[in-house]
Amino acid sequence: MSAVVIEKTSTPATPGLREGAFGNATALSCRECGHRVELGPHYACPECFGPLEIAYDFPQVTREQIEAGPPNIWRYKALLPVPTDIEQSPNTEPGFTRLLRATNLAAELGIDNLWVKDDSTNPTNSFKDRVVACALSAAREFGSKVFACPSTGNLANAVAAAGARAGIKTVVFIPSDLEQPKQVNSAVFTDSLVAVNGSYDDVNRLASEIAGEEEGWAFVNVNVRPYYAEGSKTLGYEIAEQLGWRLPDQIVIPVASGSQLTKVHKAFQELIALGLVEDRPYRVYGAQAEGCSPVSVAYKAGVDAIRPVKPDTIAKSLAIGNPADGIYVLDICRETGGAVEDVTDDEVRAGIVLLARTEGIFTETAGGTTVAVLRKLVETGQLDTSLETVVINTGHGLKTLDAVSGAVAPAATIEPSYSAFAATGLA
Ligand SMILES: *Cc1c(COP(=O)(O)O)cnc(C)c1O
Ligand SMILES: [Zn+2]
Repeated sequence: MSAVVIEKTSTPATPGLREGAFGNATALSCRECGHRVELGPHYACPECFGPLEIAYDFPQVTREQIEAGPPNIWRYKALLPVPTDIEQSPNTEPGFTRLLRATNLAAELGIDNLWVKDDSTNPTNSFKDRVVACALSAAREFGSKVFACPSTGNLANAVAAAGARAGIKTVVFIPSDLEQPKQVNSAVFTDSLVAVNGSYDDVNRLASEIAGEEEGWAFVNVNVRPYYAEGSKTLGYEIAEQLGWRLPDQIVIPVASGSQLTKVHKAFQELIALGLVEDRPYRVYGAQAEGCSPVSVAYKAGVDAIRPVKPDTIAKSLAIGNPADGIYVLDICRETGGAVEDVTDDEVRAGIVLLARTEGIFTETAGGTTVAVLRKLVETGQLDTSLETVVINTGHGLKTLDAVSGAVAPAATIEPSYSAFAATGLA
């Protein structure tokens, strides 16, 4: 597909697209060279092959307008590339998840003021429902006939469910060694789950090839990636709104492709530009698992280039060896005074158990990674324990039971008698 070049920033009359199909979005803009193309199913700059991002012309948006919206991501629809009647189209209505004050975890880690943004309660139990809802809206407006993705697991779940609800055919591609619960969580929604013998990066390459061959396929994180990526901004908007229209001082975010981290930062910048929050400094921290830590390795080496790796970690939802937005994660974490850190698989397991036993939240390996990185940032003095800190839990532990099933178990197995119970010493 070829991108049409436009001259101005005003809304172009794109043939075949509904008036207002993308709300206040005006164009696609190259993150590298600033070149603009009109809104369409494009993702790479025709000039330099850099990634395209959504550009907007925002009207005055007020806190009151947002607060009057529905308790899901569409309360921020004025800030997303979606039509004003987006609530009318069937979708999974993700977002507006809990921001919990994590008093026990804070005490355990020696942090004064800590919050957990718990995105495990989204419709398919990960933050991916947010990005998929935005990608689905774009696919609809483009008249796509198939809704597809390469996935490390959670994205496949979200695409398959959203497609089912929207009545659009889905085809989802996953690495064949993916955790069984994540396979079932997709297969229950679609009869077209394709397991590929290879790593996520192999699956991603295959998806790009199919996207080039097949007309009318919307691969959410490939050819509609600019629209998909905007969905992660809602995490940033919600955190600010739930803190009482205020930015946190520090935020710790897991990094796979790096899209989520860059978009939470973009959300904070937009809220400042719109006058919805006070402009004040904040630090952004990225979390990776040691077995797939290309961004953390580059951060620690002080270099700008990211060397792709072959992933080997239990944190499969973060196992992207060649992260598309890795270089932007480096920029943001360095510019804001944050850091990128990584932890071992044993630390990931300990992170899962720590969050469960302090806050009653069962997270998957990605959240275990993020909590373990939070702990390591404190222990290494990279995080200021006197400042208000938010940690994002992006997925649910029931999808990665195997990760901790060897680490937690019944304390005793007994006959049904009081004396047997008394003998355990648990009374
Ligand atoms: C996909 C995913 C991430 C990271 O997403 P990126 O935007 O690709 O960095 C984090 N946590 C979970 C649970 C995920 O599924
Ligand atoms: Zn460019």
